[in-house]
Order: sequence, then structure tokens, then C-alpha cells
Amino acid sequence: MGKCMIIGCGGVASVAIHKCCQNSEVFEGIMIASRTKSKCDALRDKLQPTTKTVIETAQVNADNVDELILLINSYKPDVVLNLALPYQDLTIMDACLATKTNYVDTANYEPLDTAKFEYKWQWAYREKFEQAGITALLGSGFDPGVTGVFSAYALKHEFDEINYIDILDCNGGDHGYPFATNFNPEINIREVSAKGSYIENGEWVETEPMEIKRVYNFKGVGEKDMYLLHHEELESLALNIKGIKRIRFFMTFGQSYLTHLKCLENVGMTSIEPIMYEGREIVPLQFLKAVLPDPATLGARTVGKTNIGCIFRGKKDGKDKTYYLYNICDHQECYKEVGSQAISYTTGVPAMIGAMMIMTGQWNKAGVYNIEEFDPDPFMQALNKWGLPWEEDFNPTLVD
Ligand code: NDP
Repeated sequence: MGKCMIIGCGGVASVAIHKCCQNSEVFEGIMIASRTKSKCDALRDKLQPTTKTVIETAQVNADNVDELILLINSYKPDVVLNLALPYQDLTIMDACLATKTNYVDTANYEPLDTAKFEYKWQWAYREKFEQAGITALLGSGFDPGVTGVFSAYALKHEFDEINYIDILDCNGGDHGYPFATNFNPEINIREVSAKGSYIENGEWVETEPMEIKRVYNFKGVGEKDMYLLHHEELESLALNIKGIKRIRFFMTFGQSYLTHLKCLENVGMTSIEPIMYEGREIVPLQFLKAVLPDPATLGARTVGKTNIGCIFRGKKDGKDKTYYLYNICDHQECYKEVGSQAISYTTGVPAMIGAMMIMTGQWNKAGVYNIEEFDPDPFMQALNKWGLPWEEDFNPTLVD
């Protein structure tokens, strides 16, 4: 059917690339382009004997628009799947505009020097993408990503209006280390050490980091502490889902993770302010990333399950209704299938599906869109087919 260029070759990209190779009918060709070409070559060497998908590799600095344009023009993909870091979103979008190529990512743009997640920078490209006749699909991971598809599906099939959404992200996995992050440590720690926030009646309400705690009993995992965080899909879902009064995001953390994080924060190791060290500038958080376990190595040691989903409350035919849509994913099953743990898996699979929606023309409108703005049905079917089956509960326990 077509060709996809995947930028980045880390934890999430590795899963998406495995999945593209399982789906050769759609992904006839892929190019893996990243900063460290040896990682792309190693993955190609592993996967090429197993797939009909023709795999090419390239070195690229995705901070450099001209380099990206040259590479896109030489490969001519139908879609560019950005699985590098959020800092590269805008340069890759610029290159897609210049070459009139569709764009998909899993995380919204974040400036390197301020830990701030907002869609405004990417939404500013709307008209340009419309005029160029190309699609940008923003946030095609799990959260954001599947959580937006779940919301669109719930609104389409179960509700006339949705008034409350609680997104619950539970990782019941255990990797055996006292402290490690399940995806890029820099991005992860920036996210969890920021202030929390949620949207109520159209306004952001800000909390201190980890100020709001709840306990929830997750199917497949058991009882876990979870904490309210700021999360990027709150911003788009509050605009795109009809009737929203309040939307919150909770993520589970164990006490050991939080104690280590507090300690690292207290000594300044999570700071993104550069400091001088032995005559050169270093960013403490980037240094911390260098000494922590590489998330890509956690797969083999992680056991347990994730359970991520959304609890909806709203109205159907004038009556109050509650509905919970979620996916349970097993770390070891993921490792057996693609050599990664469930956090990369639950992001990499929807990333492949997002690119597939655009390549097959099932999602086809020019402009810049968040995932919940498309028809959820083909994506929901694809989740069942490609390894992230969903479950529903019409009488879930609510979060107070
Ligand atoms: P990794 O750090 O494992 O991988 C990032 C990859 O991008 C690496 O291969 C890295 O290269 C490459 N890269 C970084 N900078 C550049 C650059 N300037 N030019 C070219 N390549 C570059 O991250 P993850 O795989 O864990 O995360 C990938 C993305 O997925 C992130 O944006 C993250 O926020 C997002 N994410 C989204 C989730 C969701 O549910 N929506 C959940 C988890 C993650 P090198 O190998 O040289 O380091």
C-alpha cells in the first residue's frame, strides 16, 4: 500500500517498527531514520529476514529541517511517523509541510528549556497543513492516543453527551530496580515533577505535584495508589468531546518511585536549568538520564500488567450513564512478542495504527487534528487486531 518514514529508534519506535513489519500489506516499505544509525541498522538486520516490508535506514538530525527535507524527498514516504522526542515535533512538521507529506506523532511539542505541554505550537500549523492538503495526526500513542479514540468511541456509541472523564493509567509492572523510568527518563521525570492540573467548567485548576491521591482497584493488577497529573490530552478532549464539565488524569506510582524522585528533586538532580560542571555546561536531568537504566533494557526483567483506560459519566436518552473502556497489557507477553515492555508496546502499537489510518485513507482530511477528531471505529477494530484488545464495564467503581 505505501511507505512510512519512522523518525527515532528508541523504545516506542522499536515496537512500532516490529508492528509495521507484521503489517507488510500496508507498510510495503519503511525507512528508519534516527540520530544513531547503528540502532536503526541493528533493528533492520533483526527484522528484515522476518518480513516482506522493505526496510531502509538513514542517519538524521531531526532538529535540522533542511536535513529532514532532503531525506523525505529522497525516500518519498506517504507518511512520516515521528517517534523521536517532543522537542523535534515542530522541525519535523516544518519538513512535512515543505515536502507535502502527512505527519503523525505521539507527544505534543515541548520547548527544551521549559517543561510545558501545550498544543498551541502545533495547532498554529492548522491552516498551513490545510492549504498544503496534508494531514497531521497529533498524539497517536496510548495516552494521548487510545484515550482520545476511547473518548470519541464512547461519545459516538454510548452517550449523547459526556460530562466527566477520568483517565486512569496504571502500571502494575515490576522491573526489580529501586528506581528506573519506563520510557525516556527525561520526558518522564519532567512530566511527573510538574504541577498537576485538571479542567473543570472550561478552566484549568492547578495543584501541587502529586497533591491529589486516590486508591483504585484495577482489573488484572489490583489496588494501587494513583496521583493526579497534568496530561496533554486533557486540553484537546475538553474542546473536542461534547458536554465535558470535568476531565482529570491519574497515574499510578509506587512509594519507592516517589521517595527516590523526591530525594532526586531535593538534591537538584531533576532540574532542567543548566549548571557548570568541570568547565562545561550540563543539565542535571540529562545527566540523571545517563546514569539511570536505559528503558529499552527493562523489558526482559519487567513482570506484571498495565491497565489504562477512561471512565466516562454522562447522559444517554436523558438518563445518567457510566462506562469504562480500558486495555490490560502484560509486560512479559509484550517482551516475548517484540522484545519490549508494555509501556513501549502500548505506545508503539497505536503509533503504527495511526500511520496505517492515514496510509489506507481511512482517516483522510487535510489539516492538524487530535486523534479524537477522527472516526474511532476503524482504530478500535485495529486495536483488537494488533495486540491491544479493549474491555468495557458498564458499572465501574468511580473515582471521587
Ligand atoms: P527514546 O529516548 O527511547 O527514543 C527516542 C529516539 O529518538 C532515540 O532513538 C533518539 O536517538 C531519537 N532522537 C532523539 N533526538 C533526535 C534527533 N534530534 N534527531 C534524530 N533522532 C533523535 O524515547 P521513547 O521511545 O521512550 O519515546 C519516544 C516518544 O514517545 C517521545 O516523544 C515520548 O514522549 C512519546 N511517548 C508517548 C506516549 C504516549 O502514550 N502517547 C507514552 C510514552 C512515550 P538516540 O538513539 O541517538 O538517542
